[in-house]
Amino acid sequence: MTHIFHRTPRSLPQLALRGEGSFLIDTAGRRYYDGSGGAAVSCLGHAHPEVVEAVIAQIRQLEYAHTSFFTSEPAERLADILVQHSPPGLGHAYFLSSGSEAVETALKMARQYHVEAGEPGRRHNISRLQSYHGNTLGALAIGGHRGRRALYQPLLPESHHVSPCFALHYRQDGESDEAYGTRLADELDQTILALGPKTVSAFIAETVIGATAGAVCAVPGYFPKIRAVCDRHGVLLILDEVMSGMGRTGSYHAFEREDVVPDLLCLAKGLGGGYQPIAAVMAHDKVVDTIVGGSGAFQHGHTYVGHPVACAAALAVQHIVARDGLVQQSAQLGEYLQLRLRERFTDHPHVSDIRGRGLFQAIELVARRGPDSAFEPALQLHAHIKRQALARGLLCYPGGGTIDGERGDHVLLAPPYLTTRAELDAAVDILGAAVDASI
Ligand code: PLP
Repeated sequence: MTHIFHRTPRSLPQLALRGEGSFLIDTAGRRYYDGSGGAAVSCLGHAHPEVVEAVIAQIRQLEYAHTSFFTSEPAERLADILVQHSPPGLGHAYFLSSGSEAVETALKMARQYHVEAGEPGRRHNISRLQSYHGNTLGALAIGGHRGRRALYQPLLPESHHVSPCFALHYRQDGESDEAYGTRLADELDQTILALGPKTVSAFIAETVIGATAGAVCAVPGYFPKIRAVCDRHGVLLILDEVMSGMGRTGSYHAFEREDVVPDLLCLAKGLGGGYQPIAAVMAHDKVVDTIVGGSGAFQHGHTYVGHPVACAAALAVQHIVARDGLVQQSAQLGEYLQLRLRERFTDHPHVSDIRGRGLFQAIELVARRGPDSAFEPALQLHAHIKRQALARGLLCYPGGGTIDGERGDHVLLAPPYLTTRAELDAAVDILGAAVDASI
């Protein structure tokens, strides 16, 4: 008997007892390799002694101080580190407790920026179809994943969507990267023009698509073209790197590989590595300067903004990531993981694509090789694979679309940056067995 309203009340999860490096251990003593870092969270794995000590030391020193009265040392130092690692312009950080909060905060910051810059008419936000930006109502509303939105549709404020950049499925026959990127940028341009350029506040996109399509990178040149469209119309570009940021894709920020800098950047999972709930919005100087020089106050806040213990945990995580060269390690191990996935799945009759960047890799699943043929209903397949992998001691993260023709049923792997080649070898073997047993 449980009094928790679990995600899947009819099939209760195992009781997790403890973590150890790349593994979680349940109360029956079974060990699970955390091949997805939960949901691309646990970048350092579990029970890292230095982070544990940092958290304990911070709780002893100062567990909480409300940000309407105080700032704290760990929050200040964490902001310094983030800014040091970011391109010029991205000079400010605002700390929150979850990715959804970060997305909502970025949308509000964009709106307040426009109002204070003398453009109060800017109120529309645009995102991409098949995108996920969080589960609170504002974040769900901006997201473009029909399956996740359906039940709550009547509660969701208006939002607007353009096509995702997902060349495997949506690029036309014979279309080059260049032409595909241009077509998508034109679509954004037309959407902004149709809404009225002076009414659009922000465009938001994941730099590398995570949960809804599985480690999908944009075609080269896409983001600079999108940036140019946003600039032409005074629309802010928000990049959501809640999942793909903080070294996950083998660079500190995922956008470093895209030749673009956002106005607002959402970070979360790898920031604190799961040791505490923490997220951040990094804001461009022009946004912050406009608000500081205008009303002088960002009209937003939560009780746990800048929580000292959460910031201390993230500070320790980021210190270790920098000291031990773990962003580079994510890039190198990611290449190895992709190689191993290719060896195992290239000829698999139900795997149509193997893709990703850094330790953010996915295989895409199809009912038949060749032209698109998704599994229906895919959710059952996701659940089967998850169960089969779990039974064999692997945590992986299946997901995708398959709603109204959306494509991209996949299994995502996002292991800790401290994992080993031997652990990755074993994970690929188990994943192979789990997929074979599920289809
Ligand atoms: N944005 C992206 C890209 C995500 O992947 C997620 C969560 O998976 C979120 C936002 C929401 O983050 P959270 O679950 O911490 O609210």
